Amino acid sequence: MIEVEDALRKILEHTSRLPTETVPLSEALHSVIAETIIVRDDSPPFDSSAMDGYGVKVKDVESASDEKPVALKVAGVVRAGQVYGKALEYGTALKIFTGAMVPEGVEAVLMRERSSETNGEVLIKSSVSAGENIRRRGEELRNGDAALPPGTLITPPVIGFLAGLGYAEVCVYRKPKVAVIVTGDELIEPQEPLQEGKIRDANTSAIQAALQEIRVDIAACKRVPDDPKKLLEAVYESLASADVLIVSGGVSVGDFDFVKEVFGNAGIEEVFWKVAVKPGKPIFFGTSGEKLIFGLPGNPASALVTFYLFVRPALLSMMGREKIHPVNLPARMRSEIKKKIGRTEFLRARLQSQNGEVYAELHNGQHSHMLSSFANADCLVVFPKEQTFVAKDGNVKIQLLPWAAL
Ligand code: AMP
Ligand code: MG
Repeated sequence: MIEVEDALRKILEHTSRLPTETVPLSEALHSVIAETIIVRDDSPPFDSSAMDGYGVKVKDVESASDEKPVALKVAGVVRAGQVYGKALEYGTALKIFTGAMVPEGVEAVLMRERSSETNGEVLIKSSVSAGENIRRRGEELRNGDAALPPGTLITPPVIGFLAGLGYAEVCVYRKPKVAVIVTGDELIEPQEPLQEGKIRDANTSAIQAALQEIRVDIAACKRVPDDPKKLLEAVYESLASADVLIVSGGVSVGDFDFVKEVFGNAGIEEVFWKVAVKPGKPIFFGTSGEKLIFGLPGNPASALVTFYLFVRPALLSMMGREKIHPVNLPARMRSEIKKKIGRTEFLRARLQSQNGEVYAELHNGQHSHMLSSFANADCLVVFPKEQTFVAKDGNVKIQLLPWAAL
């Protein structure tokens, strides 16, 4: 049995970033950019008005005030998206709107709120300084500048930024294709009525959802009975199309736990089996060439805890992500916790903040077959291997679950 940290280290040692591919922006969210993004035009691309108002000459309005406004003839209207074409003459103003290209001769834009217009004449009530309310061409970026380095995570603002720069596609690290096999003779579909001795399959849905959250490709998803032949077929089939295989259930020591044996028959090399963790002790990790294979325990809380501890960081690392580990925070326990020495425990808890301090509130039902506490949780309390007791209000470390901010 190995330690949690050693297990994670071994997984990451066998994990490499996937090759790059070019994808449309609409498919790029949460991927990682694999190229240097170069600016192709000056940004902004032309001098434009930052306000709705009037384009004027500085000298024409230098004496303007509320008490003694200056009257100017409105010589034209300049709209966003159009080229006005004529220059501003002394003694006149051009009515101009936000984003419109500033015509030649306009030295500043006076905001509309400092004016009033009647019958083709505008009363200007403030002086302006040269360049006021004009966004200058290239003031943000110049053609040829490096705008974003490789390694940048693609977020909504990155997508907007790329679109504005004229990138309809972007080169990113490919996302892993993941296959899921869920084992168990006792499993039935969520929509089926319960039958004696059967339980509804929670893991297929939960693991798929956890994969969707990081936007990886789910290459295949299959449920198989506890039958070594059928399992071997499913493993071969999955490995043909996927970079990562996740199997749920059948990885422990029961007479009908065939997963390890079948992995061996499929040529999968064991890196480790069993980690000093609760829940999730029987987790298996192995490789087949560059492919990663995880055997997660079938108990639903174990399957998901081990997914978040071991599988998710590996998947994020394959897609080039730099921040692959959950956010850790110090917190205080709402209630005392006890356990035996020997395994690091991850307790499903809810985060609360009170007077600037973070508290973790545990829910009943921490057993590995119980998902109710997990369904109410947004963090995992880390209860270290050697520790047996934390008092109420005692200090612990918590790991945020991905939805903690939602
Ligand atoms: P196993 O790891 O196959 O020994 O399963 C351990 C426990 O988890 C057993 O009680 C199984 O019935 C249960 N289990 C296994 N797979 C699932 C699943 N997909 N959904 C819900 N419970 C499961
Ligand atoms: Mg089973």
